[in-house]
Parts: sequence; C-alpha cells; structure tokens
Amino acid sequence: MNARNQIMGAERTREVVYAIREIAAIAEKLLAEGRDLVNLNIGDPIKSDFETPPHMIEAIHRGMLEGNTGYGPSYGVPAAVEAIERDAARQGIDNVDQVFVTTGASEGIELALTALVNPGDKVLLPMPGYPLYTAVMSKLGGESVPYFLDEANAWQPDVADIEAKVDERTVAIVVINPNNPTGSIADEDTLRQVVEIAEKRDLLILADEIYNKILFPGEKHVPLGSLAGGHPCMTFNGLSKCYLGPGLRTGWTILSGDLDRMADFKDAFTKMVRARLCPNTPMQWAIPAALEGDQSHVGEVMAKVSGRADLVASRLEQIEEFGFVRPRGAFYVFPSIDCPGSDWDFCVELLKDKGVVTVPGSGFGQRPGTKHMRIVLLQTDAQLGEAMDRIESFVAKKRS
Ligand code: PLP
Repeated sequence: MNARNQIMGAERTREVVYAIREIAAIAEKLLAEGRDLVNLNIGDPIKSDFETPPHMIEAIHRGMLEGNTGYGPSYGVPAAVEAIERDAARQGIDNVDQVFVTTGASEGIELALTALVNPGDKVLLPMPGYPLYTAVMSKLGGESVPYFLDEANAWQPDVADIEAKVDERTVAIVVINPNNPTGSIADEDTLRQVVEIAEKRDLLILADEIYNKILFPGEKHVPLGSLAGGHPCMTFNGLSKCYLGPGLRTGWTILSGDLDRMADFKDAFTKMVRARLCPNTPMQWAIPAALEGDQSHVGEVMAKVSGRADLVASRLEQIEEFGFVRPRGAFYVFPSIDCPGSDWDFCVELLKDKGVVTVPGSGFGQRPGTKHMRIVLLQTDAQLGEAMDRIESFVAKKRS
C-alpha cells in the first residue's frame, strides 16, 4: 500500500514507549508457540494467588442491583467521596479541598497533567519511575525532566538534583512513594525538602501513593499531602494495588491546599473532570467497602509479598552480576545488572532463552550508564524459585 493511503498515527505518539507492554507482546508470541513462561513482569496481583476481597465485590453487586447504573456525579458518588475524605483525614491530609473519583489513578494523573501543562512546560519526574507520566507529557507537548532516585542512598529522591533542575518553565514535581519500580519508600526528611522546593518555586506537587498500604514489616509511609499544609498537592490512589482490584479501574485524586493558591488550576481540572462525564458508577460502591470495611487482606498481602521479597533477595545475593537495594514496600525489586550489552537485550535474551519475563530498567528511566531489571514479587514461592533458577543459569551461561 502507498504510504499516502495509510491512516497515520499522530506525531505525538512517536516518543511514547511502554516497555512493560512491549515485553508482554514478545512474551505472548512465545506463549502462542507453546513456550513455558514465568511472568515476573506485570504488577497485577490477580494474575497470581491474590483475589479482590469478597466484601468489595458484594458492595458492587449491591450497588448495581439497587439500580445505580446511570451516570453519576462527575466528582464521584457521595458515599465514595465521603469515604475518601475520611481516609484522607485518617492519613493526616487535613487541607483537603476536594476529592474526585477517577477511572483508576491513571485517569486522575492524565487529567491533572492535562489541566496543568502547556506545550514546553516542564514537569520533574522520578527516574526510575512509572512510565505513564512520560507518555502523557509527550501527548501534551510538555517536557519530562528526570530527577534521579539515588541507588546508593536506598533510592531516595536526590534533592540536590531536583533543586538543580527546576527552572522558570517547571510547573510540577511528581513523587511516587512507595516507588514503582524500586520498592523504595521516601524518608520524611526528604519529603519535607521536596515540599520546601515546591513552595519556593511554586510547583504543584503530584503525589502518586497507589502503594501506600503495601509496606513491609516495620516500614512507615508519610503522605506528602500531610506535609504540604496549604501548598497545592494532588494525591493519587485507587483500588488497583492495596485493594487488589486493578481491573475495577477505580481510583481517586485528593486535591489539598489553599484554594487561593490554585483556583485557576482547579477550574481547569474540574472542567476536564466534567467533560468526561463520570467514572464507572457501580464500581464506586467498592470504595467505602475497601477503605472502611475488613482490612485483613492488607496484612495477608504484606506477609506474602515480604516473604517473597526475602526469597528473591536471598537468590539475587548469590549472583555476583546483580546488586540490589532491598525493597521496603510495593511489590517490586530493581536489581542492577553487570553484564555486557543493554538491559533491554538482557531481558529479551532472558525471555527468549529461559522464558522468564521481566522488564528492563530503561523502561522506567535510570541514571545513564546503569542497567537494571524489574522483578515483580507477586508470584508464588514456587514460581519465583523456578524463575530464579532460570535467571541464575542464564547469567552463568553469559559469564562463561
Ligand atoms: N501509579 C503507579 C506508580 C503504578 O505503578 C500504577 C500501576 O502499575 C498506576 C499508577 C496505575 O494505577 P491505576 O491502575 O489505578 O490506574
């Protein structure tokens, strides 16, 4: 076919890479050929031995049977909004201006950036970090400015790097805490310094706290919104991770801070929220059930995931080509790789040769010159043990 006859994708999509799904596409091809794969690539607990708590599913059912299948308010149904407000108060986020229910945290993130970023505006993004932000920034014609998490300092945000990278075009800073892909948790002192910079330079704070309850024993999470006081802050969360319901596509955004510092932005954001009508109505019945119902699944998830992190850590320690920082939350570990070639090549070869599906560090951003891979810690002990056997023999083969 002649190129002129083709319907072409927009230029703005050319830069968008989503390594997690790209690796999955190679894996699907191998699976279709009958290969036996171990998937350590997707952060979906339902793909392993976890299930959405039944009381959430019952609440959705009840909501539907009671006829709640029409459009709802753009901001979310009152029962869900009020439960999120109470949860924010329990977390110490006490300057809440308004809460918005969204289609996953993803939609809140996309609407917030859309409402904020003009072409050429800059947003500071953590590297390594979850790749949705760079994809949305490409779409908006904004500039993603990476700031690094410091591997030598338990992957803490590098505050000096943040300070050095803010300029007059910078409009926001994103903090992902606990972080995907490193499993790290930012210290309170570091978070306070981030707030200070945001205040000094008038940056909107975007706090992605979707893993806020997935904390290993003894670990503590400090919500950025609880430190920001009157400074404008958006906190993103949802049912996908802590409440084991990623396919429910239900999340929320908490806007906190003094209205006189963000009234224009809030107008822009609420316009975008109204334009997309409303989030899925019946799923919102799961929100009060999740936030205020039985929480026993949280302890179970943590016990399993931290045990699995120990198992993987004990195996990684045996392989001299890997270095790693022990994760403290979420469900990922992000070891460094000391092997010839790129980390993309490493992960693709590992997949093709041994059938282990991981994601290369380059998919999340990392300091130039470093190489990593992300391992998801959700699979069973048996699957993780099998994967680590295969990884070990792959590295031994490369070594010889
Ligand atoms: N933020 C982070 C840091 C994530 O890791 C993910 C999913 O993996 C999301 C947001 C997306 O969340 P949701 O499923 O609520 O859209």
